[in-house]
Amino acid sequence: MEFPTSLRQLICVPQNVAIFSHRNPDGDAIGSALAMRHYLEQYGHTIHVIFPSEFPKEFESLPGSEDILIWDIHTEESKQVLSQKNLFFYLDFNALGRIDRLGDFVKDLPGKRIMIDHHLYPDPIADYVFSEPDASSTCELIYRFIEGMGDIIKISPTVGKCILTGIITDTGSFRHATNPSIYRIAADLVERGTDDTAVQDMIFNSNEEKNLRLLGHCLSNRMEYWPEYRTALIWLSKKDYETFNIQRGDTEGIVNYLLSMRSVRLAAFIHNQPTVVKLSLRSKGDLDVQEICKKHFNGGGHKNASGAFSHSSLKDTIERFKKILPEYKQVLEGLK
Ligand code: 5GP
Ligand code: MN
Repeated sequence: MEFPTSLRQLICVPQNVAIFSHRNPDGDAIGSALAMRHYLEQYGHTIHVIFPSEFPKEFESLPGSEDILIWDIHTEESKQVLSQKNLFFYLDFNALGRIDRLGDFVKDLPGKRIMIDHHLYPDPIADYVFSEPDASSTCELIYRFIEGMGDIIKISPTVGKCILTGIITDTGSFRHATNPSIYRIAADLVERGTDDTAVQDMIFNSNEEKNLRLLGHCLSNRMEYWPEYRTALIWLSKKDYETFNIQRGDTEGIVNYLLSMRSVRLAAFIHNQPTVVKLSLRSKGDLDVQEICKKHFNGGGHKNASGAFSHSSLKDTIERFKKILPEYKQVLEGLK
């Protein structure tokens, strides 16, 4: 990371700041946005965190989550707030399409933009770009940003809690997309007073009864497995959404259960959200699901974790997914 004087001045002199992250915010989106907020506050900036859509309930215990503005709900207030801003942070996304109509509104506003992100192929939408697709998470990059600014002392237990949230969620608690530095970062955060057990509890032990019932339903009634393609799928219909009263975040992590099968290298979760059909693909090893999502479904993400939306029916989307499997059979067979 490089820190030109012009950037240092923006960070160290109070500005009117907006921090954004992507739609359907996950732990890394929320963690990076709130970590940046709590860091910048120490320089006296005026800050608003704005997301395009709501975030899962479990993250309500993160400090600062209570005054996040949601564009879908607080549209007028967001517009008013944004008209005062002169510094914009794009965290955990690298294309304006990932923040929907908020992106259309923000792109013409005057001010400087800083992108910190770990997805592949960034669009040229910021004045300062910290894009590292090999990083585990945007939160890892936030730690390195603060460290690079010479501000490690500003990583309070609150900033640490937010950073650790993104590292743990994006690595499935240190199971994938890891690298040596995240263990050092985690150790440093704990030494600085971050309560790691509280973070793990917030992420993994905040289920309600319905979440376990839903998981049981997915595994018993909604799972398909094609051993010849080393691929498994879980799907959910609109009716399932009603039966289980599925809310934002309730389906997070379900796709990972498929990867726990010894032979599976490609896992898919296809579900009929209220307005669109959403795909989540995960892979193990050298199978690039980013390419699959981009080529077949106009989506994207990372090599081993990507997503997309489909405007076809659930049935057609599942059929389309099945049809592409032969194209990857050879690669799948060859994987360790
Ligand atoms: P998930 O499957 O959990 O929604 O997303 C997995 C990864 O793919 C995340 O890093 C997410 O940002 C990215 N992703 C999900 N949906 C889309 C999409 O529609 N377009 C792009 N470009 N990336 C996506
Ligand atoms: Mn991320």
